[in-house]
Amino acid sequence: MEVPFLDLRAQHRALEAELTAAFQRVLHDSVFVGGPELDGFESEFAAYCEVSEAVAVSSGTDALRLAYLAFGVRDGDEVITVPNTFIATTEAVSQAGGRVKFVDVVPDTLLMDHRQLEAVIGPRTVGVVPVHLFGTPADMGGIVNVARKRDLWVIEDAAQAQGARYRGRRCGGLGDAAAFSFYPGKNLGACGEAGAVTSSDRERLSAVRKLRDHGQSQKYFHDCEGFNARLDSLQAAFLRIKLRRLDEWNEARRQAASLYRERLKSLSEVALVEAPADTLPIHHLFVVRVPKREAVMAALRKRGIGTGMHYPVPLHLQKAYEHLGLGKGVYPVAEQAAREILSLPMYPSISVDQIDFVCESLRQFFAGS
Ligand SMILES: *Cc1c(COP(=O)(O)O)cnc(C)c1O
Repeated sequence: MEVPFLDLRAQHRALEAELTAAFQRVLHDSVFVGGPELDGFESEFAAYCEVSEAVAVSSGTDALRLAYLAFGVRDGDEVITVPNTFIATTEAVSQAGGRVKFVDVVPDTLLMDHRQLEAVIGPRTVGVVPVHLFGTPADMGGIVNVARKRDLWVIEDAAQAQGARYRGRRCGGLGDAAAFSFYPGKNLGACGEAGAVTSSDRERLSAVRKLRDHGQSQKYFHDCEGFNARLDSLQAAFLRIKLRRLDEWNEARRQAASLYRERLKSLSEVALVEAPADTLPIHHLFVVRVPKREAVMAALRKRGIGTGMHYPVPLHLQKAYEHLGLGKGVYPVAEQAAREILSLPMYPSISVDQIDFVCESLRQFFAGS
């Protein structure tokens, strides 16, 4: 049996006729940038996230950068996030002219620890960026509370959380704005690069809309310098088709996750990562913590099972952030997690047999070592 880490082909085989028809429709109309497919996707995605508006952009990284800029990040303004995320979260802060500050995460959930925020907030701090890592909403109640008290904005990094809920409400509408990625491997993935910013703050979103398109308020009238960060119509057309399946796919992932949890709970060497109370996660990744991780990965690979690490090196220990002077031991929870985390195969079409095979392979590894 083969169990790939991710199976995008199965998803596209099932949608092939619809995606091909969408391609033919866009080709026939030859409106490749903007137009009805883009408008349609923006309003459908906003409705899905239960916010008033969405602006589609060319990637999740652009969504973050444009959102930071729209909220006024400049000249050394400090933005607080977590060290256990993909570099796009912080790269976009620097690209906007800001400076990155970190807080550590909660051991059980590996999500932002809001109790550590107060101590890091300084006179230059302007905002907080919780990351809904693995598709699990961060503890937004606590985070937003601190932010409101200290007059900071909150932008969700929702790149891994399309459709997840916190206290009944969707990610994307839990802070002042949110950035989404539709990179192909995400729960809602384009057939190329794509992203979006959601918010119910129309003024900020109109700034994002302007920045996305060279600062134009109308064609060749530039209110400011911006970027070319537009989403092409073909990706919008593909995303509209996939958005209609997203709830069903997320539910299939939740079932796969509960099967994994059920099968793994008796295996004492494998620790599960928990979700905060009152969240509905979407399991972009299914992550466990194991001793001897590299040996586990090698043993699984030998049996045809794909795995991943999200992420092997916390950002404050990356070469790219050497200049921050944050050495080992500064964020012990994130550092310990980076040594142990292991992402198991997870996608909507994963079968019960495949999950059983992965769990049985883990059991045999630990029985024999
Ligand atoms: C994927 C991802 C991004 C970046 O999105 P791109 O579309 O690849 O630019 C940002 N943050 C997190 C947490 C991600 O997983």
